[in-house]
Amino acid sequence: MGTDLGSFDITIIGAGCIGSACARHLSQLCEKKICLIGPDEPDHPRSQDTERSVYGAHYDAGRITRILDPDLVWAKLAQRSIPRYVEVEEKSNMQFYTPSGYLGVVEEGTSYIDKVKECAKLLQVEFELLDHQQLKSKFPYFSFPPSCVGIYQPSQGGYINIRQHVIAQMTIAQKQGCTLIKEIVDRVDRDDRGQFKIVTEKGNYLYSGKVILATGAFTPFKKLLPDPQKQLDIELMKETVVKLQVKDKDLQDMKSMPAVIYFTGKDARYDCYILPPIRYDDGKFYIKIGHGLTGSDKLDDHQQVIEWYRNVESDNLVEVLVKTINRLMPTFEYGSVVTDHCVSTHTPSNHVMIGEVNEGVTVLTGGCSHAAKSADEIGHLGALTALSNDWSYDIPKSEFSVYFKQN
Ligand SMILES: Cc1cc2nc3c(=O)[nH]c(=O)nc-3n(C[C@H](O)[C@H](O)[C@H](O)COP(=O)(O)OP(=O)(O)OC[C@H]3O[C@@H](n4cnc5c(N)ncnc54)[C@H](O)[C@@H]3O)c2cc1C
Repeated sequence: MGTDLGSFDITIIGAGCIGSACARHLSQLCEKKICLIGPDEPDHPRSQDTERSVYGAHYDAGRITRILDPDLVWAKLAQRSIPRYVEVEEKSNMQFYTPSGYLGVVEEGTSYIDKVKECAKLLQVEFELLDHQQLKSKFPYFSFPPSCVGIYQPSQGGYINIRQHVIAQMTIAQKQGCTLIKEIVDRVDRDDRGQFKIVTEKGNYLYSGKVILATGAFTPFKKLLPDPQKQLDIELMKETVVKLQVKDKDLQDMKSMPAVIYFTGKDARYDCYILPPIRYDDGKFYIKIGHGLTGSDKLDDHQQVIEWYRNVESDNLVEVLVKTINRLMPTFEYGSVVTDHCVSTHTPSNHVMIGEVNEGVTVLTGGCSHAAKSADEIGHLGALTALSNDWSYDIPKSEFSVYFKQN
């Protein structure tokens, strides 16, 4: 027999980037009884797990934050989220934002730059265009091909410690009256009173008038979605991360390094991202590199996703990423090399899905490798959607459509 954990008006399942932000906004916007349910990050290496059934994409100290983007929707969501970091930091008494600036590197003459410039001008975002010489002299530790130029956002960009961001959002939500339950949900049922009965893996249960699913890559699994015939059209992609230790003697030289995304070729294909030196839990500083989606594999089922999260040992992309660092940062003499795995969740529109899938159940998922920096505004939108059926937001609802797989 499980324990009755209480009754709530709205329950958010998934205490990750978006769920925690949604909990903060909901508990600020209304007087309703709000619950956020989801487990903490494991306190031991994931490779030692044998039982755990869900993980998060927020287990890291560095996520790039920037407004510059060729996609106006993502640029707007970031522009609304980034200024609120200060408020969240102050209210939670935690620090997670480092405004180190953002640099996009791309081949000269591509339409990518024109699109980014167009969005930046529309949103009045300050940016600098750097020719190859300026790129070299401003950031001497990088060596990009001579055909490359830079588009640099000196302010309102850099990186966030996404773990801390999640904890900060939860801290404020709790102060505002939100109940936090650290359990994994096994299934969501509807009882004959029309209430949702949310049952955890431990057999405990709670009741809720409405449910928001902010469960990231794990949304299709377990019995969270109300109708097993209606599966969300999302793709789950493997992501490999390599962290290269920065020696103490080099830290000063790299102090002003921005967060970087490198786009290659005339089609400006997302090649890799590089984060400046960040101190990780072992006390050491690392530069982190990760890849775009070309060459990355899909994950098809729950077991594959779990295994990918647990098996953080080497894979074929590690060597590619190390070679990329050797090429783009030829003078960087790194120490130890650490690898990690993560999963990104992609939608047909390349935007987050926000909307009701059944009466009373809202999905808030599909970060498309973009959502950490903008989780605050996405959480806000999720809160507005759960509170009212009227869409009175200045970005059309169709940009956040929920797609289902065709049978
Ligand atoms: C390697 C990598 C690099 C990235 N870099 C960037 C970047 O630089 N900038 C950027 O903006 N974005 C970046 N992203 C994307 C960003 O991390 C994701 O878009 C974001 O984490 C998505 O947030 P989410 O809340 O949807 O999912 P998550 O952060 O994964 O949170 C989902 C939460 O739901 C919980 N959960 C799942 N199932 C259940 C259940 N059954 N019961 C209870 N809880 C459950 C999980 O434990 C987790 O805490 C990156 C992603 C990856 C993988």
